Amino acid sequence: MQEKTTMEKITSLAKRRGFVFQSSEIYGGQSGAWDYGPLGVELKNRIAATWWKEMTQLHDDIVGLDASILMHPRIWEASGHVENFTDPLVDCKKCKSRFRSDQVPEEKLNAKKCPDCDGELTDIRKFNLMFKSHIGAAEDSASVIYLRPETAQGIYVNYKNIIQSNRMKIPFGIAQIGKAFRNEIVTKNFIFRTCEFEQMEMQFFVKPGTDEEWFNEWRKRRWAWYEKLGVKMDNLKWHQHGPDELAHYAKEAWDIEYLFPMGWRELEGVHNRSDYDLNRHARFSGKDMQYIEQESSNGGNSVSGRYIPYIVETSAGLTRTVLMILCDAYDEEKVADKGNDDDWRTVLRFHPAIAPVTVAVLPLMKKDGLAELAQDIRRELKENFATDYDQAGAIGRRYRRQDEAGTPFCITVDYESKDDGTVTLRFRDSMEQVRVHRSALTERLLKEIRDYKRV
Ligand code: ATP
Repeated sequence: MQEKTTMEKITSLAKRRGFVFQSSEIYGGQSGAWDYGPLGVELKNRIAATWWKEMTQLHDDIVGLDASILMHPRIWEASGHVENFTDPLVDCKKCKSRFRSDQVPEEKLNAKKCPDCDGELTDIRKFNLMFKSHIGAAEDSASVIYLRPETAQGIYVNYKNIIQSNRMKIPFGIAQIGKAFRNEIVTKNFIFRTCEFEQMEMQFFVKPGTDEEWFNEWRKRRWAWYEKLGVKMDNLKWHQHGPDELAHYAKEAWDIEYLFPMGWRELEGVHNRSDYDLNRHARFSGKDMQYIEQESSNGGNSVSGRYIPYIVETSAGLTRTVLMILCDAYDEEKVADKGNDDDWRTVLRFHPAIAPVTVAVLPLMKKDGLAELAQDIRRELKENFATDYDQAGAIGRRYRRQDEAGTPFCITVDYESKDDGTVTLRFRDSMEQVRVHRSALTERLLKEIRDYKRV
C-alpha cells in the first residue's frame, strides 16, 4: 500500500477528530465546501479572535465592521470584478475535464492537448469567478446579485459612514472577518482553495504620499503576528508580485507564503491599492469619496485639505490559516516511553492560545470518588479555559487522544489528589509532568499560556 501523504494524513485526522468534514458527505460530497466540526470551529474561532484582538483591541486607530454578503451589483462593476475577476479556462472535448489554462503544461497547451487524456482542448475562454444569482421574484437583469468574492468592498463603501459615526481621522483602519465566495475551478488540497471561505481583511486609509511608509509598516506587523501565533517562521516567506502578477488596482503587492505540504503557497496578501477603489466608487456612485482634513485652531475646526485616501490592505484567508495552522502543528514523534521503541504519537502542537481545548481533566480511575473530584476540578477551570473531560480507557491512551486533538495541558486526578489536593499537570509538547496543588492551577495555566514557546 502506498504511504499516505502529509496532506492525506492531516485530512483524515481532521475528519477523525472532528476538525473538518466534507460538506454533504452522505450525498457524495459537495466539492469546494467543507464543514467545521466541534474542534474545527473552536480552532477557527480562536484564530479569528486572535486576529480581531490584534487588529482592534491592540490598535487604537482600527475599528471593526460586519458588512452584508449581498451588495449592490454596481459595486462589482466599480471594483473591476465584473470585468476582470476571471480565470482563463480550457475544456477537454474528450474527457470533459476543465482546467485553468495557466496550470496546463506549456507544451500541452500549445499542442491543445488534454494533460489527462491527450484529447483535444478547446480555445481559452474567460470564466468569471463570481457566483451570480437573482434577488426578488423576477429573474431579469435588474435583479442580478452576486455573492461577494471578497470582504474588502464592504469596507470601502462604508468608509465615509465610519468616519462620520466614529469620528475617525486618517490614518485609520477598518477590520472585517467574513465569508467570501468564488466559483473556483480547481479546489484540491483540502480546505486550501474552496468556493466558500472566510477572509480576515483590514483596510488602512492613509494620506497619499505616506502610503509607502504605511505599506512597509503593515508588512512588518503582519509578519510579527505569525510569530506571535507560534508558527515555524522558516516555513514563511515573502513573495513580491512582479509586473505581470500585479492586480489592476495595486501599486505594490507582497504575499506571505507558507510552505504547505504541496509547496509554497499564498497565505495572505499585503497590498498598496492606491486610490483606485475609492476613485472608482466615487465615479460609479456619483458620491464624493474625498476625505476632508480638518485643522483645529483656537476658534474651532477649519478645512485644511481634501483628498482621496490611499489604501493599504492586509488580506488573509481565515480558513486557509486554519489549514496552515493544522499543517504547522502536525507532528509525528517517536516516544520511547514504557520501553516500547516502536511507540509513535501524533501530536498537534497548537499554541495554547488557539488550541480548541486548553486543558483536559482525566481521573486516573472512575471509582473511589476520583471521577467526582476530577469533575469538580473541571468545573473550577471552566470559567477561564476551554476544558474537556475523559475517563474512558488507559491513561496513556487518553493522553494520546488529547495529543492528537492538540490539547496543550492534561490534568490527572489520582489517589494522592484525594489526600493532599495535588494533581499531575502534563505538558503536551515535552510530555513532562509536574505536581501542582489544585488551588494553584488557574494561575499556573495562565502563566504557561503567556510564556509558551514552540519547541
Ligand atoms: P489565489 O492566488 O490563491 O487564488 P488570490 O490572490 O486571488 O489567491 P486574494 O484575492 O488576495 O487571493 O485573497 C486574499 C486571501 O484570501 C488569500 O491570500 C487567501 O488566503 C484567501 N483566499 C482567496 N481565495 C481563496 C479560496 N478560494 N479559498 C480559500 N481561501 C482563499
